[in-house]
Amino acid sequence: MSETPSDRIQIDRRGLMLVLSSPSGAGKTTISKALLQDDDNLSMSVSATTRKPRPGEVEGKDYFFMEPVDFNLLINRDELLEHAKVFGNYYGTPSAPVNEALADGKDILFDIDWQGTQQLAQKAGDDLVSIFVLPPSTSALEKRLKARAQDSDEVVAQRMSKAAEEISHWAEYDYVVVNDDMDQCIAEVKAILKAERVRRFRRPGLLNFVKSLTEGY
Ligand code: 5GP
Repeated sequence: MSETPSDRIQIDRRGLMLVLSSPSGAGKTTISKALLQDDDNLSMSVSATTRKPRPGEVEGKDYFFMEPVDFNLLINRDELLEHAKVFGNYYGTPSAPVNEALADGKDILFDIDWQGTQQLAQKAGDDLVSIFVLPPSTSALEKRLKARAQDSDEVVAQRMSKAAEEISHWAEYDYVVVNDDMDQCIAEVKAILKAERVRRFRRPGLLNFVKSLTEGY
């Protein structure tokens, strides 16, 4: 079901940037997929990265995979909204699609780490809504990382040791959800998005709408 039925009164608004951060394996990919599935007004920001593709990952859909020299070009041309080094690879958000979407009243979902979120918070101000996803326990996190089986044991161990560092930034986020029940967690994130969309300052169209209601009185 679409989140913006066409028979509702349409009030112009600016899009928002919804950031989901968590340690790897806390379920944010599943949450992202669920959000995107039934929401025509939300699309995923596709990051550029110097990481090599994992099996099944698609160029231009999961990431724009590139060599470090090309990633540096994006930085030098100021074409990234933010960028950071995570697990030894570079990741960054191309600016152009984000700026276009926001101006068009479309919302964008970001799966980025705390470093990128800090940069976006400085640049994007009120456009940013940030959510941190906490795992229910350390053991659950390790289990999920192992079950993913896409990374070597060494990488899993590396990601576990990074989890505590990532989690230490939880208090920098607007919202924090605990992923002990995936369905509940998805429902909470959807509720956050729904409420944030109707915040007054995002809807410049309200001015004319209210005028039309009060004209003549
Ligand atoms: P993965 O290699 O598992 O796809 O991602 C590793 C980490 O990089 C995740 O925590 C993810 O949130 C983060 N990440 C992915 N894209 C970006 C990006 O464009 N900017 C930043 N700062 N982090 C990103």
